[in-house]
Amino acid sequence: MENKYLEVLVCPVCKGALEYKPELQELHCKASKLAFPIKDGIPVMLENEARRLDE
Ligand SMILES: [Zn+2]
Repeated sequence: MENKYLEVLVCPVCKGALEYKPELQELHCKASKLAFPIKDGIPVMLENEARRLDE
């Protein structure tokens, strides 16, 4: 997975920028506190598939 994803993908909830977490294979939206999984190299940009981020 390369940084090209970050240029085209935005959070489906808030349309904000995502942060790629290679060690987790997730894309994080800090504003929405959601982590979107990357399955087999494909980001799953569905709110109901996302993991909640707790702070
Ligand atoms: Zn968001």
